[in-house]
Amino acid sequence: MSTNRRGGHVTSASDTVERECGHCEWHGAAGSYAELIKRYQDHLRDEHPTAWLRS
Ligand SMILES: [Zn+2]
Repeated sequence: MSTNRRGGHVTSASDTVERECGHCEWHGAAGSYAELIKRYQDHLRDEHPTAWLRS
């Protein structure tokens, strides 16, 4: 049985939220969901400007 689900999950041990990029192998982690969103937005803007503009 696997409890690992794609698309983001919270690990209770560290309260770290994670998510993967839908366009490359980038994987981000942060201490809060708001911070994670910011990191993902920064990544999109730098690496996938066309995808960032569309979102
Ligand atoms: Zn990416």
